[in-house]
Amino acid sequence: MKSRQLVWFRSDLRTEDNPALHQACQQGEVVAVFIPTLQQWQQHGWGTLKTAFVLNNLQALQQRLARLNIPLLLLEQVDFSNNDQALLQLAKQLNASHLLFNDEYEWNEQQRDIQVESSFKQAGLTVQRFTDQVAFTPGSIRTGKGDYYTVFTPFYRNWLSQLRTEQWTPLPEPAPQQPTGLNSDALPTSPDHPALVFWPAGEAAAHQRLEDFCASSLPDYQTQRDFPAINGTSSLSPWLAAGVISSRQCLAAAHLASQGRIQDKTTGAGCWVSELVWREFYRHLLIGFPRVSRGKAFKKDTEHLPWRSLENSKAQRDLQAWQTGQTGFPLVDAAMRQLLHTGWMHNRLRMLSAMFLSKHLLIDWRVGEAFFMQHLVDADLAANNGGWQWAASTGTDAVPYFRLFNPYSQSKKFDHQGLFIRHWLPELAHLDNKAIHQPPVDKVDLFGSPNYPQPIVDLKMARERVMQAFSR
Ligand code: FAD
Repeated sequence: MKSRQLVWFRSDLRTEDNPALHQACQQGEVVAVFIPTLQQWQQHGWGTLKTAFVLNNLQALQQRLARLNIPLLLLEQVDFSNNDQALLQLAKQLNASHLLFNDEYEWNEQQRDIQVESSFKQAGLTVQRFTDQVAFTPGSIRTGKGDYYTVFTPFYRNWLSQLRTEQWTPLPEPAPQQPTGLNSDALPTSPDHPALVFWPAGEAAAHQRLEDFCASSLPDYQTQRDFPAINGTSSLSPWLAAGVISSRQCLAAAHLASQGRIQDKTTGAGCWVSELVWREFYRHLLIGFPRVSRGKAFKKDTEHLPWRSLENSKAQRDLQAWQTGQTGFPLVDAAMRQLLHTGWMHNRLRMLSAMFLSKHLLIDWRVGEAFFMQHLVDADLAANNGGWQWAASTGTDAVPYFRLFNPYSQSKKFDHQGLFIRHWLPELAHLDNKAIHQPPVDKVDLFGSPNYPQPIVDLKMARERVMQAFSR
């Protein structure tokens, strides 16, 4: 009889192209396990939407595994602290000789996995770990001197030069095994959230979106991706973050749709692939510079920046205005309302609103990072932290500190006709294409919108304030 294999699902909630699952099915009879650690997720700042999305995808995974006669068991744990013992006990109960899982790169997850590996080793059981979230294991792409890259473009060039077909060839779903005689566990009920309607669960939904994107928007991605009123990007980030679809599957689809032109950044497919590489770059940084996943700035000297204290009531009011989409800067507010309503925000607007909070309002980027984490359905530590530190100029390969996106110019450039603003700020819908970007403040009764706030900050003063803060 072949030995029993225990596959531990984490942020890889899929049956297709799953390295740990694929290998386990070659080795013996497979039983799957998932550990919902609700308290740990809360500590990591996940909001209700992200939690619900993950649990809904777990449900979809259980159904797919059932087709393969693989039972999905649940180990209830509040956090990561005792996962090793819980898994070990389960492995012994099931008489499983191997534990297999795909790697995660955040600090707490790393510590947990080291503990699991060591406990299994002590008990004489085998742990097999796989690289899944990235094409190249973090640390395997380095500079000529052997250091981790801290700048994206050379990392990207090196990544492209080493890319071989195997790295983007997805693995098939395993064939069904003989029934095990074990029943799957009942899964926890997922909390309700109105935005779930935008984010259907399961691999089929993710692949449908990938297919639609490749057919409609991929060819023009490089020219359309910056315009929030256009469906120019894939919006696959929630499924990628939960591992319902893999970046290999995305690479393969881009390769197929572009007849192999994924290396050329001036094409739609090439440009899209470079964004997937940004995702990977930030994962390499988590391993190369663990401080970034522990709340610290990449650039150590920026730890001394004099962020405004939130004990100050004006700073607190500014933060609340930003959080609720009431800053008086239409594109920033439309972006924040998109986030609150759908749990997702367009990339150009993530950059704009993050820069607005950290630079124009001089509020610590960690406050914004946590707010995004709480509200994003695609909340992902590596990308979120990378994005925030990029915008705040505290990160690696970040925007220079003296560069501030002007909310009005960004609005004119990327939402020229105000379509996006009109959609999210109906109170401004009546304004013409010029006034929509910067509603007149002194003539509220005549042309403006009495329901819309006046700008909460003077851009010139804000610029001087942040320059002074950085130059100290
Ligand atoms: P597409 O343009 O279709 O790109 C395809 C995929 O590539 C995305 O789904 C995503 O997985 C990856 N990707 C694209 N751009 C980036 C990027 N700049 N950095 C890292 N990966 C990228 N992305 C998250 O997945 N989770 C987050 O929590 C997150 N927080 C962010 C916070 C800030 C302040 C900023 C500036 C960016 C953040 N991003 C985050 C990156 C990016 O904004 C989103 O991945 C993207 O908007 C998702 O939309 P899409 O799926 O349509 O992307």
